[in-house]
Amino acid sequence: MTSQNDRQLISVVVPCYNEEEVIGETLSQLSRLCDTAPAYDFELVFVDDGSQDRTLHLLREAAAQDARVKVLSFARNFGHQIAVTAGIDAAKGDAVVLIDADLQDPPETVVEMIAKWREGYDVVYGTRTSRPGESRFKLMTARGFYRVLNGLSEVPIPLDTGDFRLMGRNVVEVLKAMPERDRFVRGMVSWVGFNQTALPYERAKRFAGTSKYPLRKMMRFATDGILSFSAKPLRFATTMGMVAAAFAMLGIVYVLVLRLFTSIWVEGWTAIMIALLFLGGVQLLCLGILGEYVGRTYSEVKKRPLYVVREKIGFEGSDKDPSSATEHGLSAAE
Ligand code: UDP
Ligand code: MG
Repeated sequence: MTSQNDRQLISVVVPCYNEEEVIGETLSQLSRLCDTAPAYDFELVFVDDGSQDRTLHLLREAAAQDARVKVLSFARNFGHQIAVTAGIDAAKGDAVVLIDADLQDPPETVVEMIAKWREGYDVVYGTRTSRPGESRFKLMTARGFYRVLNGLSEVPIPLDTGDFRLMGRNVVEVLKAMPERDRFVRGMVSWVGFNQTALPYERAKRFAGTSKYPLRKMMRFATDGILSFSAKPLRFATTMGMVAAAFAMLGIVYVLVLRLFTSIWVEGWTAIMIALLFLGGVQLLCLGILGEYVGRTYSEVKKRPLYVVREKIGFEGSDKDPSSATEHGLSAAE
């Protein structure tokens, strides 16, 4: 897995959308990063996510001058998470680092990530200790979102953690084998498992330009995160259905008692109430049952591997191919 001279290759994946104001500085800071870690080879994989400005032009110039710079250019804007995915697919490194183009994630932190990776961690994710220069609205919604997501998700997803992270080749191969289309990369990395550790860092202000995440994209991103990692919203219908059906039964008994033993009723009222309560309860319950099947279909179509094997011990001809898929699972045994 190492290059001929036994030096390890670190891939740095940078999604860029209309980043002409920052890209020059990003390029120079990243090449400085390469110089501060001379023990490693680097490739800088820039994914131009259909920029309409001079981003691609600037990246092309950089690639012509620096052999470490590689550029993937999308035919249109496909969105941040897809850009990150394409970068991961193209990266050849023994470790892959995801970093934003706007220098909010300080490149010097990558050196610490590499050190942790060398200690034996497979994923080193950056956790933001502070986020200067973000609007109150962004801070509040982000804070709320990560907590709700964690409460709903079936795998724990670390709080206040973006995509800024380093992943070992084993984790990358598993990610590449997850063919789901609505991709919430940070959650998918948590799902994979292996040894993951947090690295606290201070998130800087955007170096220049404006956020490429308008409210519409943020909502889409949050929905993808919750719906891809939790079936709880769907189960909600079942719970509601059961509660409603139980209340309907009580209601039916109540109106019958009124009708049979008291004089507090109006002509026709009992029959209407019974029909209303019964149908309401039954409908919600059926919706819930439908929801359960839809949920199962959803998890089938996501086609994630059923499990991920870290290591195989004592098997004949232990599998050396890191990406070999077994029947239902994925073997990432090295
Ligand atoms: N980005 C992208 N495609 C998009 C939106 C954003 O590739 O459709 C990139 C952007 O260039 C940046 C990263 O994703 O490198 C994060 O975006 P941004 O900094 O605008 O988000 P914020 O930090 O405001 O959440
Ligand atoms: Mg940013």
